[in-house]
Amino acid sequence: MLGYYSQRYFYFGRVPRCARVGVLRAALCFGASHCANAHPPHASRKIRLSVTLFYVGTLFLAGIFHVQAREVKIGLWSDILPQSVRYHSEKHEVWLLESTYEAQFKRTIFKDSPFSIRAGSRKVEVYQGSEVVEVFDTLYIYPNAIHAEFTLKNASRSGSYKGKLITFVNAQGFLTLINEVHIEWYLCGVVESELGRIKQIEALKAQALCARTYAIRGYKRHIQEGFHLCDQQHCQAYKGVSGHKLIVDAVFSTRGEVIMYQGALIDALFSACCGGVTADAQEVWNKEIPYLKPVLDGKYCQRSKNFRWTVVIPLTEWRKVLFTSDSLPSIWYYLPDQSGRSGKIMYRDADYVLSDHTMRAQLRLKSAKIKYQERENCVIIEGYGFGHGVGLCQEGAIGMASQGFTYQNIIKYYYTGVTLGYDTEEE
Ligand SMILES: [Zn+2]
Ligand SMILES: [Zn+2]
Repeated sequence: MLGYYSQRYFYFGRVPRCARVGVLRAALCFGASHCANAHPPHASRKIRLSVTLFYVGTLFLAGIFHVQAREVKIGLWSDILPQSVRYHSEKHEVWLLESTYEAQFKRTIFKDSPFSIRAGSRKVEVYQGSEVVEVFDTLYIYPNAIHAEFTLKNASRSGSYKGKLITFVNAQGFLTLINEVHIEWYLCGVVESELGRIKQIEALKAQALCARTYAIRGYKRHIQEGFHLCDQQHCQAYKGVSGHKLIVDAVFSTRGEVIMYQGALIDALFSACCGGVTADAQEVWNKEIPYLKPVLDGKYCQRSKNFRWTVVIPLTEWRKVLFTSDSLPSIWYYLPDQSGRSGKIMYRDADYVLSDHTMRAQLRLKSAKIKYQERENCVIIEGYGFGHGVGLCQEGAIGMASQGFTYQNIIKYYYTGVTLGYDTEEE
């Protein structure tokens, strides 16, 4: 499959500037006695030659095809504070480098030879079996093929990723794990985490545009921690690479496309199901955003299992939440008309005010878009949708795609007045 996509999309990846400098230096000093100390004593000439040829080859190909591609650094697993992790590249050998400069490296690990990385005292230790074989301040693991896949595993998690792994021991004493990967492969993972392996490719493309726009706009969110974006919901959920053909097609066929409003990237918010009408950013976050305005959506997402739901909660719990909440944005209601046809009525209920946060966190509701009835000792809540409801409705996008709409139609339906553009770092 790798070959297929390489040919089809002419992607060879960008070589970082530091690596380009490294190649020049390596080429200039290769084999010269004056720079012998620049390389670790056990680094053989043969391996240095391989590294140099690899980068020169990449530069050559990138030059031919004028390809510049955005690489992203994704912080992995910070929620579980990893102390150690097992690295396995089944099909490729990998180079353990101590720097991206001058293609310096310490060791080659041959394919299908798993090894462990552990947080030592301020240093990263590499184990093969029970023996420490190398120690690094920062460890750069580069595969011998662009987009080679590797797996990470420890007692609490596992995942497969493409590209490079960079790791160091952070101030808290656990491993910071960074996956440096081409943005489109990252987006494949995000789209799969968000929508799963659905069949509606136009919805997958729409999600890819949202995810790409969101990622580029928030590119420097974690720069202080040494990476761009985290793999949690805080940025976008990324559970590793997706090899699902339809998702890969959706992402690469829209490569570089982003959503703009008046020439700037939009805040491409989305939620699982809007419950019939999308929310106004003003209502949810008290923030006026011209392209995040309510859109009637019942005909596209009404078949979703999250479109309408009911829960019963004790009256005491309800009142506890109701009377301790501050005055926060009111809620848009959606009601079907009397005959139950697709006519939609939208109005604001001023009876009470609850924030999205209060509703969902304290009452554990799917959304803040509800109607309720009090009955003796309980409250019956009839709710609509899942999530904050602002921006693209994922279930609605799937509905639109099923009805033959394109991803451009979908994007322009949920985001008022937007246009499509290109990420300027992609060509
Ligand atoms: Zn984040
Ligand atoms: Zn919807």
